[in-house]
Amino acid sequence: MEKIVIVGAGVAGVNAATKLVDNGYPGEAITIIDMGKSPYERKYSEVMEGFLGAGGWSDGKLTYHTAIGGHMSKYCGEDKAMELFDEVINNFKRFHPKPEEVQCSDPQAEPDFIKPHFGLRLFPVWHVGTDYLHEIGKNWYDFLVSKGVKFIWETKVTNIDFDNQELYCDWNTPKETIKYDRLIFAVGKSGIDFGKALADQYSFPTEPKPVQIGVRFEAPQHHFQKLIDISYDFKLYRKFEDEGVSLRSFCTNNNAAYVAVEETYGNHSYNGHAKKDEAFRNNMTNFGILMEINGIEEPFKWAREVVQKLQFHGTGLYYSPTRIPSTTSEGEDVRSYQIDNLSGVENVMGEYWTYIMDFIEDMKKVFPTLKDDWGIYIPEVKYLSPEPLVDYKNLALNQFDNVHFVGDALSARGITVSGAQGTYVAEDILGRFCKVENGSYICEWDNHMGDNITF
Ligand SMILES: Cc1cc2nc3c(=O)[nH]c(=O)nc-3n(C[C@H](O)[C@H](O)[C@H](O)COP(=O)(O)OP(=O)(O)OC[C@H]3O[C@@H](n4cnc5c(N)ncnc54)[C@H](O)[C@@H]3O)c2cc1C
Repeated sequence: MEKIVIVGAGVAGVNAATKLVDNGYPGEAITIIDMGKSPYERKYSEVMEGFLGAGGWSDGKLTYHTAIGGHMSKYCGEDKAMELFDEVINNFKRFHPKPEEVQCSDPQAEPDFIKPHFGLRLFPVWHVGTDYLHEIGKNWYDFLVSKGVKFIWETKVTNIDFDNQELYCDWNTPKETIKYDRLIFAVGKSGIDFGKALADQYSFPTEPKPVQIGVRFEAPQHHFQKLIDISYDFKLYRKFEDEGVSLRSFCTNNNAAYVAVEETYGNHSYNGHAKKDEAFRNNMTNFGILMEINGIEEPFKWAREVVQKLQFHGTGLYYSPTRIPSTTSEGEDVRSYQIDNLSGVENVMGEYWTYIMDFIEDMKKVFPTLKDDWGIYIPEVKYLSPEPLVDYKNLALNQFDNVHFVGDALSARGITVSGAQGTYVAEDILGRFCKVENGSYICEWDNHMGDNITF
């Protein structure tokens, strides 16, 4: 048995730990370190950090398709990916106080009224809602603690010595480093700069990535109701093959829908989430309009520079022909600086800005009541940091086969895929100590469950 350290108690890390303890891996041999707080301590404003990570305060849309939310099938094939997605979705239901309230939206055909301007991606999505995620987080955390998993909260891992298998943390008082036999690196988007620094320090070979950037669009829900009735998390898309650009609406939130500020590298960008509780209903819809741009040299650097230039007075921008920014679910203003024209944004985004404005103009044709009743928060960005090359069979680094990258820190961009990557790595770890018989793991520690484990 090995001492496993998981950096990041987000969706990927938590699903990995759950798969391990569900199959008898001693929880005492698993330590999870997170710079955020337990689900009992975490505040609403802590959007990205703490138990279940960004997924814990997200909208909880669990997408169920291999073409959505990052890479899974490229590692393990379509069938295995879907099996792993099922496990993740079942975990969310298992710790849900009212699992019957998790609804599935499953559009079957593109409606005619959006043609010829847009296509519609057809895939099922399970919707949990932010408020239930808080309860799920507590139940899930209690389960892992009851299994002996050790959590170290409010502790940032600041460096990793892969050669000597030890971690350095921002302890307030001098403490020893933390040793590991096996490391799961699951720092999500809030740790993307850390992942990049390690990749530079160790010269990890990486896979090239496109840029994903755009805006968070917000409008009263009734303008979009006809499409929401068909697909809760509708994904309108269009592709400009020759120009290497594609656009899609991304992460749609409805009913009690709020825009959220994300902070990465000290800059603000935007995302959204929705609550289930009727008390929070504001009858708004928000979604990202995201462009995927291929062929930009140094895409990560380019995206960071653009985001930096789109900041004013320490925050992102808001533009609307008629509206003002909304408030958060706690009644505070969504932090943004309202601008009265888009010329500055156009200067920064260059030719790419036209794609966004065309998308909005065409939405006005498809949803005729929309007119000027909308606003955009600028920018929304998905930083796809250079993806380290990993062994596809267990997501371990090429140079260090006891270090696994998972979730948004690798190639995921959503809850289901992040959780699936964590589960996939856990399966590989179990495979080192167990054999599968009749669908169950028979493991080498099965006869030693009462033994004291000390590391
Ligand atoms: C507002 C919002 C809404 C979203 N809505 C959806 C949605 O509806 N559906 C969907 O599929 N996706 C959604 N997402 C994206 C989704 O939450 C992420 O893709 C997913 O959580 C990634 O999982 P992860 O485990 O890789 O990272 P995370 O869940 O982000 O977890 C990473 C964890 O690592 C910790 N960490 C980072 N660096 C360090 C360090 N150096 N030391 C210690 N700890 C560290 C962080 O504190 C965090 O808890 C949303 C994101 C946001 C912000």
